[in-house]
Amino acid sequence: MQSRNYSIIDILYEWVLKEQLKKLPESRDPRIIYVTDLVGCSHKYHLRKKYPELTLSFEPAAILGDIVHTGLGRLLAEKGFEVELEVSREIVVDGEQYLLKGRVDAFKRDEGLVVEVKTSRTAINLPRDHHVKQLRIYLQLLGAEKGLLIYITLDKLVEYPIEYQPVDIEEEVKAIINDTVHPRYQWECKYCVYRKLCSYYEEYRENYKEGER
Ligand code: SF4
Repeated sequence: MQSRNYSIIDILYEWVLKEQLKKLPESRDPRIIYVTDLVGCSHKYHLRKKYPELTLSFEPAAILGDIVHTGLGRLLAEKGFEVELEVSREIVVDGEQYLLKGRVDAFKRDEGLVVEVKTSRTAINLPRDHHVKQLRIYLQLLGAEKGLLIYITLDKLVEYPIEYQPVDIEEEVKAIINDTVHPRYQWECKYCVYRKLCSYYEEYRENYKEGER
């Protein structure tokens, strides 16, 4: 029998790149805003529209996160959750129409429960503000009341119940379109792929630790 030379890295590379390339056309579309845009730096959204290819990456930490999401998703699907559920809403800002889009990790429809999964290197400052806000936006988009935010880190496995609290989604979209929050958190610049092109980037933010992602 002839044996084939398998490379698992090649398989991962193909999977990761295919997923990222699929998103590129949408990344260029100025009418599409992601829920994750609403919890981050507004200027990143504008730079992504111009230079979407700069977001392509093949980083072990991100791949680990994708694998965890896929594995946990399968487990939750067996327990009756809808996984990787697409959510969207039309939003009008200054007479222009936008489409707000997001993907919920897991949703138990009969219980109105939304689950958001996060992987992280460290377990400092949990739960993080931007993750709580992201989950609250999903709750609002789905008309659900209860959220569960789970962190899978190298030394901690913790989950936080998050209750529904209204978010002014229109105002948040407006802030992104008008580019008024750059950055939203000081630590964002340190991890930003656009920092070398960004007029708002400031070097001191490189060392900013508080509230790190
Ligand atoms: S470098 Fe900082 S201010 Fe500039 S886009 Fe990135 S996060 Fe925003």
